[in-house]
Amino acid sequence: MHQQPVRAALGQTHTKRMNCTSRTCIGRFAPSPTGALHFGSLVAAVGSMLDARARGGRWLLRIEDVDTPRAVPGAADRIITTLARFGFEWDGDIVWQSRRGEAYRHAFDTLVAAGMAYPCACTRRELANAPLARDGSRRYPGTCRDGLGAGRSARAWRVRAEGVIRFNDLVQGPQSLELASDAGDYVVLRADGLFAYQLAVVVDDIAAGVTHVVRGADLLDSTARQIHLQGLLGAPPPTYAHLPLATNAAGEKLSKQTLARAIDDAPPAAALLAALRFLGQAPPPTLASAPLAQIWAWALAHWSIDAVPRCRQAVATAFF
Ligand code: GLU
Repeated sequence: MHQQPVRAALGQTHTKRMNCTSRTCIGRFAPSPTGALHFGSLVAAVGSMLDARARGGRWLLRIEDVDTPRAVPGAADRIITTLARFGFEWDGDIVWQSRRGEAYRHAFDTLVAAGMAYPCACTRRELANAPLARDGSRRYPGTCRDGLGAGRSARAWRVRAEGVIRFNDLVQGPQSLELASDAGDYVVLRADGLFAYQLAVVVDDIAAGVTHVVRGADLLDSTARQIHLQGLLGAPPPTYAHLPLATNAAGEKLSKQTLARAIDDAPPAAALLAALRFLGQAPPPTLASAPLAQIWAWALAHWSIDAVPRCRQAVATAFF
């Protein structure tokens, strides 16, 4: 189904192996099908694939449609078609979160059986005055932690979150976050009966054996919760690299809301070069008129995570 023979092109370069001596590195790209791919998503796809391949590893594609009400009909197929047109090649079958309910249920049951998750009756309105966590969610004040009040019934389920999570992000540097003073006890099963994004991501990454998570820095603030959940589910955390988030000139994340242009019809070679430059890589001017496969081959041979700008966001000058 892939239109560009990128694997073949990549095979012509020598494969660098870095830091993954004892087990195969596994990376992934995990778009939410809430709209078309834009330049910011392309940056995450390029960074995650090059990083995995440069380590001699596998690269997986997961469609994050666990939040079914937010999924836009047709968006996932559009994303997959665009990725193929840009020459991305993923290993194995695409994973669809909407088909993984059983795995999430199993992990949830494990958390409940271990006494780590508890039912919560609080409504959004009741939490409206709680302080904000770094990611903009409300810090849970712990109201239902020791049991539901009389006459109150369970809506969501939360995980007890305590302790300090430290990790060294390959791009953003050392991170430290105290769970209780950030988001506090966080939701794993939502009031609408859907499993929360945090749980789905962690269960999927564990199931796929993901070793390297390379994604946009907008998810940096979720990472402590994900490392915490991995620990509760008995898995070692992957290595993280949070790439600068592409913004418009006003500093807003490229998204459907900020009217970011879809890259579906963008010329792939030019867009790929722009994404590489955004990631601090320095493709030579001679590649400007090169075929796509040649740009991919150069990108793989020269990929350097150390060259990625160590900032949380940067203005994308290329919108296509
Ligand atoms: N689905 C998330 C997004 O599209 C990415 C999640 C992840 O990479 O962990 O922003």
